[in-house]
Amino acid sequence: MNKILQKLSVGLIIISITSFISLQCTSPDNENHGFDLNQMDTTANPAQDFYQYSVGNWVKNNPIPDEYSYWGSFTILAEENYKVLKEILEKSANDKSAQKGSNVQKIGDFYATGMDSVMIEKLGIKPIEDDLKNIASINSIDNLISTIAWGHKLNGSPVFNIYADIDAKNSTQHIATLSQSGLGLPDRDYYTKTDKNSVETRAKYVEYVTKMFKLLGYTERDAKNNAKSVMNIETRLAKASMTRVERRDPNKTYNKMSLKEIKKLAPNLEWDNYFSDLGFGTPSYFNVEQPEFFKEVNKMVKQVPIKDWRVYLTWNFIDGVSTYLNSDFDNANFEFFGKYLRGSKVQSARWKRVMRTINRYLGEALGQLYVEKTFPPEAKQRASKIVDNLKAAMKNRIENLDWMSDVTKKQALHKLDAFGVKIGYPDKWKDYSTLEINRDSYIGNVLKGSMFAFKRNMEKLGKPIDKTEWGMTPQTVNAYYNPTRNEIVFPAAILQPPFFNQKADDAINYGAMGAVIGHEITHGFDDQGRKFDADGNLKDWWTKDDGERFEKRAQKIFDQFDSYYPIDSLHINGKLTAGENIADLGGLTVAYTAFKNTDQYKKNIKLDGFTPSQRFFFGWAQVWENNIRVQSLRLRIQTDPHSPGKYRVLGPLSNMPEFWNAFNVKPGDNMRMPEDKVVKIW
Ligand SMILES: [Zn+2]
Repeated sequence: MNKILQKLSVGLIIISITSFISLQCTSPDNENHGFDLNQMDTTANPAQDFYQYSVGNWVKNNPIPDEYSYWGSFTILAEENYKVLKEILEKSANDKSAQKGSNVQKIGDFYATGMDSVMIEKLGIKPIEDDLKNIASINSIDNLISTIAWGHKLNGSPVFNIYADIDAKNSTQHIATLSQSGLGLPDRDYYTKTDKNSVETRAKYVEYVTKMFKLLGYTERDAKNNAKSVMNIETRLAKASMTRVERRDPNKTYNKMSLKEIKKLAPNLEWDNYFSDLGFGTPSYFNVEQPEFFKEVNKMVKQVPIKDWRVYLTWNFIDGVSTYLNSDFDNANFEFFGKYLRGSKVQSARWKRVMRTINRYLGEALGQLYVEKTFPPEAKQRASKIVDNLKAAMKNRIENLDWMSDVTKKQALHKLDAFGVKIGYPDKWKDYSTLEINRDSYIGNVLKGSMFAFKRNMEKLGKPIDKTEWGMTPQTVNAYYNPTRNEIVFPAAILQPPFFNQKADDAINYGAMGAVIGHEITHGFDDQGRKFDADGNLKDWWTKDDGERFEKRAQKIFDQFDSYYPIDSLHINGKLTAGENIADLGGLTVAYTAFKNTDQYKKNIKLDGFTPSQRFFFGWAQVWENNIRVQSLRLRIQTDPHSPGKYRVLGPLSNMPEFWNAFNVKPGDNMRMPEDKVVKIW
């Protein structure tokens, strides 16, 4: 949505449990042992539709609030966290004694400018007028390249992206990474697909671009022509871009080149000038993720008239900052991205939106105050213990696999043993001392924060990896696996109900948090993660036969998910979601193996009338209960590597004999894949 922010996360290949910024708990759990039976629709048959059976009443009784396009466990927990964060923000903004340069001063000033809508309206586009003038004065290729560099320094992504990433084939070092970018719509396919919906979306997008140019003072005619130019440039970029499925193959996106080689690949980009303008020295080596894309950009630099580049760069900039400007721009952005593309009905309250912005730019400063309030040391110890149990269960499963040779097993166990684990919050907090935040203007603070984020990332070039660094803030309701670091990470915010609940039985906790941990562990062994070794290097450690056997098994899960149609004409993309689907199935299987070692399981202690095994699967269903607007569902099916929540319940469970036994699911039932199609990997 905000191009200027987009890059904050691209420097890290991280594979998370959900596409959400943050996660949460659905009900007061004190009385109901972690799973409220009122959520169930007991008229449904668990063998036919376990999602409906376990959480059908929740789905019926929890409509989506107007400001949301998705409502479920993750957003509800996030809302709980917002209350804590709001208190911190308000207190910081009112703290007149906060020392200048301290985190409290920065958080407080950022929040104050974001909440001062009177000042934001009054200033309008004044704070960015000089920037717009600079773009409008581009009159040569030289200028064009400088302006692209300027956009990158603002952490934006005009035309392409540059950032420091861990070198996938030398994982102790960083490498300058060049990748495709420059689009306003959510994916390259939005520019190429010819179905009715895609055609309509492009028409609406052109209307939105036109409107923004009119707000900038252009005539109707000029604004319309500008929108056409934008579409022409973006469509060329889109057509030269890799699809999301292609980008999932880490070997395809690894193309190491020297400076000499990129100069030969795309000479018109005037790399010497570009790096001189960027100001971080000239790297010797690069990973060019999509060489074909850069060949096309090279042609475009000369073929596209300079006046069209001016229009495109104006657009790329204004689209990226519109949500921080006065309400005309902010609302136009919401009308297209929020309402039309996602189906939200109203904007979130201003304080929430400002809070999310501060989360992006001063995330760990805010996070430090958040964990002081919410995360006791005992919580870390308890979570560590479950992680250890899950790792032991994974070891056990690898040792007992019937399709993998001993040679590959040894390597797999070595990789598992080398896993790094981070829980709660970083040992070393990010240093924001060189980021200056004041009360002059909101957009001013956003741009300073953006430049700071870009600088911090680019300064990693030539330096070794900082092992203490986190890719998510502690207040994020999510978790991730990072293949180039070979580590799993669980922020404090996810270690709360319904994921992790002190008052719940082991069954619920293993079915929820246990499976989430198992999910992240399995990412190290999904179709993507398996290509990285114990040290985080992209290196094949499989025997040829084992690799082939894995791929054959993975093919079955592609096919299974390809056959789900959440919307009439739109099915889940089995290849796009493969890593997540493998991780869900593996995570549940591993968590169940660990759960079998608990007293509750061994003694078969029933609770609320259900067996331990049955409750384990309720724990998982509760994580994914949700309502989603059809627009948002459509967007996600096309762009999100995670399957929609409902299918994260139906899909993996249909492959699990543990589930069939728990609910007496017979061959032929919906929740049981036919024998020759059952997926079993980990
Ligand atoms: Zn995941």
